[in-house]
Amino acid sequence: MSQGDNPRIVIIGAGPTGLGAGYRLQELGYDDWVILEANDYVGGLATSFTDDAGFTYDIGGHVMFSHYDYYDELVDKLMGGDYTELQREAWVWMENRFIPYPFQNNIRDLERQTVFECVTGLLRAQREPHDEPTNFREWVDATMGEGIARHFMLPYNFKVWATPAELMNYIWIGERVSVVDADAVLRNVILGEDQVSWGPNNTFRYPMRGGTGFLYEGLRRFVEDHLELETPVASVDPDAKQVRTTDGRVWDYDVLLSTMPLNRLVEHMEHVPDRVRAAVPGLHWSGSHIVGVGVDRAADTTKNWIYFPEPDVPFYRVTYLSNYSPYMTAEPDQTLFLTETSRSPHKIEDPETIVERVVDGLVGTGLMDDDDRERIVTTWRCSPDMTYPVPSITRDTSLGTIQPWLRHHEIYSRGRFGAWLYEIGNMDHSAMQGVEFANHVLLGEPESVWIPRGEPQGDEVDGQRTDPARRATAGSWTTTA
Ligand SMILES: Cc1cc2nc3c(=O)[nH]c(=O)nc-3n(C[C@H](O)[C@H](O)[C@H](O)COP(=O)(O)OP(=O)(O)OC[C@H]3O[C@@H](n4cnc5c(N)ncnc54)[C@H](O)[C@@H]3O)c2cc1C
Repeated sequence: MSQGDNPRIVIIGAGPTGLGAGYRLQELGYDDWVILEANDYVGGLATSFTDDAGFTYDIGGHVMFSHYDYYDELVDKLMGGDYTELQREAWVWMENRFIPYPFQNNIRDLERQTVFECVTGLLRAQREPHDEPTNFREWVDATMGEGIARHFMLPYNFKVWATPAELMNYIWIGERVSVVDADAVLRNVILGEDQVSWGPNNTFRYPMRGGTGFLYEGLRRFVEDHLELETPVASVDPDAKQVRTTDGRVWDYDVLLSTMPLNRLVEHMEHVPDRVRAAVPGLHWSGSHIVGVGVDRAADTTKNWIYFPEPDVPFYRVTYLSNYSPYMTAEPDQTLFLTETSRSPHKIEDPETIVERVVDGLVGTGLMDDDDRERIVTTWRCSPDMTYPVPSITRDTSLGTIQPWLRHHEIYSRGRFGAWLYEIGNMDHSAMQGVEFANHVLLGEPESVWIPRGEPQGDEVDGQRTDPARRATAGSWTTTA
């Protein structure tokens, strides 16, 4: 499809990807498009909610990473001057103490035996030759050694992904993280030098009011005329090029941008070849229980978020959301904890007890006092089925089967669960995948954020150049976005 064809564009989903596409389409002055959104609100997983008590929650801690000028300018436009600027102050809680993040560069304060095991394991791993790892577990052992693997990497990553490391690939890391720097570890242990994640150049912005969702609520006004809320897609017929919504309406398209989960898209499609259907079970995911706890006393720390690798508390991360903006709580001098607990068939987490277990965990780790239980003014739970597209060892083969077939039918599956690529699953990646979809369809420009995976190697895939240097750029190995 090229410029001048005047394609009818249908977009499934009004999360950051669909909104990014819509924003760009209107910016280009194009008119023939519609967004079909199942919910009665926009923003998808980047939405925020305010409860009756007046506390505002994101669906897990959302930190704005920024890799693209276009996205930065868009955020500037949406936020104006109405934002806070925060230092990325991250910590790890283990062995009953806080150590600065990143873990491996700050182990000196742990138990002597733990330090010994981490250091000797690392030195051994770096000395000994290894075969090419075949999964994430082997990669961790080979690059970080048995001690760091056992004390931090494996338990922490299981808590995040709710998936055993043996079932995950390490491509999402391999392209963006160098092996652990043994010199830095020894400098920390022997010379006592910490290497922290925060400092004047490591800041992020956060909307003053309305949480992360403020940004996407702001995008809504640019797409309003083309937006159909409460319009879930029931099926897609790729031969007739039609989308059917649950209200019985039929939407013709020339090009379809789908941001709904890729597995569900294929399950909702007609005339799907067996080999494509057979590829769907190779896509794995985890869900979450996001629990917020509002306490009627001021926060006693400037920490932003804390990682919890140990299994005695359910959550893997707690964000001090009340440190992000004074408007996240109902009254000044209140504290809002936002906790994230993953779940999957490998890691069952009872929704009935999770709020209670989270409160116990906050008390057990000292973030709350026992007396604070009486000061809890509100709790909030949100339990999406799908929060993390797991980079499983089967993922890329599945994507390599499904995506080219979709593309052959003028269907672009993009975004966090549309592309199913954690490594480009953040808000900026997602919104830019939407923007680049519009540029590609209307202007013939190549996509550069989306990564074809498991497809024919080489520079040319589906007529688009893929530049390895521009691939995955998100965060580091404890990123939990
Ligand atoms: C716990 C957690 C923490 C995160 N932390 C960060 C972070 O720190 N920084 C960061 O940048 N990003 C973070 N993210 C990622 C961010 O939320 C995503 O990048 C972003 O929401 C993806 O946008 P999307 O539009 O691709 O998908 P989604 O947000 O999932 O939106 C998809 C939309 O499609 C709609 N839809 C689905 N099925 C249908 C259907 N059948 N018919 C119609 N509509 C449908 C959904 O309702 C939804 O609105 C985090 C995500 C999670 C879950």
